Amino acid sequence: MQNFSAEAQELGISWKLELVQGKLDQFNWVFFSVIALFHLGAVAALFSFHWSSLAVFAVMWLLGQNLGIAIGYHRQLTHRSFATRKWLQYAMAVCGAMALQGSPTYWVAVHRLHHQYADRLGDPHSPRDGKWWAHMGWILRGALHSEAVMLSRYVPDLKRDRFYRWLAVWHWLPITLVAFVLLGSGAAVGGWSLGLSWVLWGVFLSTTVGSHATWLLNTVTHLWGARRFNTHDDSTNNWWVALLTGGEGWHNNHHAYPVSATHGMAWWELDFNYWVIRIFAWLGLANNVKVMRPNPERKWVTVAPGGIRLVAQHHSGR
Ligand SMILES: [Zn+2]
Ligand SMILES: [Zn+2]
Repeated sequence: MQNFSAEAQELGISWKLELVQGKLDQFNWVFFSVIALFHLGAVAALFSFHWSSLAVFAVMWLLGQNLGIAIGYHRQLTHRSFATRKWLQYAMAVCGAMALQGSPTYWVAVHRLHHQYADRLGDPHSPRDGKWWAHMGWILRGALHSEAVMLSRYVPDLKRDRFYRWLAVWHWLPITLVAFVLLGSGAAVGGWSLGLSWVLWGVFLSTTVGSHATWLLNTVTHLWGARRFNTHDDSTNNWWVALLTGGEGWHNNHHAYPVSATHGMAWWELDFNYWVIRIFAWLGLANNVKVMRPNPERKWVTVAPGGIRLVAQHHSGR
């Protein structure tokens, strides 16, 4: 693939040729086994309910899905919608790794590919290739995870950073450590059965349901919902996916204006992840927050800490 790519560049052949994700003949049994194990753990969690386990689940969900994947991996690292100090950026990346959706370099590369080729040749997970493919098939049967050289071209910014190169190898470590901490602290509070329950709810159930929530963005919000903007893809705004993901489900807005830190673009489009970014800005932890509201000139509005300027809100198709 690498040689082909070099030749293709010399010959001026479109990169798209290389970006077509092949469907492997072989099923990825390693990924399947890990995913199956986590699903079993998630089901087991339902049989070991404690109120404290639900609280552990909620905290791990907020850290992994909202702070880690949506705000860290997606809005900051993939789209650079806002800037933070390095320590906060790294902390959010570690939270993202805890969601077990891969390292920041892998996740960001795949998602940048998705935006570049959304619902066209080269999109890693378009429902046009099948609903099952877009949800999980691309992980279990796709060849993308072995295309490290090609993917690395999509994340030169992260590849330059020693921490992200380290996390690309050790991304499984944070959740493993958290699992032991939950087991130990739960056991200290209420015995080993409570420790096990905390692990099942905080690690197995939260990562499993969280992964399905993320995968729903590949399927549901490219199939069903409203389209405010006439984008070149099939993206939609879907309220229940938005509720589940803290705002990521306003996906048509997002495809129209990927760099915007806010995905909700009307007052009723709840965007919890953006509220967190605003709180960061108020606390002086985030700056250069880019906010797009639909307007005829399509101007960027940069939010200064403590204040937000909105331009006139009305719809502009494109
Ligand atoms: Zn999309
Ligand atoms: Zn995106």
